[in-house]
Amino acid sequence: MSATPLALRSPAIALEHLTKTYAGGVRALDDVSLTVEPGTFLAVMGPSGSGKSTLMHCAAGLDSPTSASIRIDGQEIAGLNENRRTELRREHVGFVFQAYNLIPSLSIEDNITLPLRLAGRRPDRDWVTTLVERVGLAARLSHRPAELSGGQQQRAAVVRALAAKPTVVFADEPTGALDLRSAHEVLELLRSLVDDLGQTVVMVTHDPAAAARAHRALVMADGHVVEALDSPTAPQLANRLVALGEGRTLH
Ligand code: ADP
Repeated sequence: MSATPLALRSPAIALEHLTKTYAGGVRALDDVSLTVEPGTFLAVMGPSGSGKSTLMHCAAGLDSPTSASIRIDGQEIAGLNENRRTELRREHVGFVFQAYNLIPSLSIEDNITLPLRLAGRRPDRDWVTTLVERVGLAARLSHRPAELSGGQQQRAAVVRALAAKPTVVFADEPTGALDLRSAHEVLELLRSLVDDLGQTVVMVTHDPAAAARAHRALVMADGHVVEALDSPTAPQLANRLVALGEGRTLH
């Protein structure tokens, strides 16, 4: 971990005046500004179509905004060309997806180290071993993804996201495909990576119980952040979503 005092470190993510208008005229984000401090767990919630995915894609350098300043660990990425943005993304950002996105023909170990090798970097074996042991997959490294449960596959995907020691991990509905118990385990894992290792995590989720594991939750509606809640509770978040007309999708 960095020895730089927290107050002197750049925000993990700093978005200023982020606007994204898609071809066809849909304004998915309208002048959004927010900061994600290092070592925090942020949840992004909101009704379908409120702009969560667009926010994540722009903040992670997967998509370019119509206008904005977007800094990852102090480095401006808005306005960079695709190649440079890809390089910065590989260096600074890890991803966890709802569908795990492990490659079926590769072992768990090769899946975990694939992004690093694609970036031409050598995996830090000690770090990967630490992570693998922490998530309880040490005995599964030679297995193929299909031989693991959904929860185990998602834990492997979390290790893959952290293997390159990214500035920030973006998790897109990481518990959406999991049973309750596995979902709970993955959320506890994400929270412990933040609390124990100082990892920064931004999670997009529909699930108030999942978002309640974060330190902070942003609620989005119509391309705006309409509320920011510290130490949110599930009932509090469920109420906000119901108020925004999303109650029918809660379960
Ligand atoms: P959420 O993730 O909260 O469901 P999105 O960021 O996917 O919201 O979408 C925000 C708005 O932008 C929606 O109105 C959606 O229809 C629109 N949108 C998303 N992606 C595209 C696209 N590629 N082209 C045009 N409109 C899009």
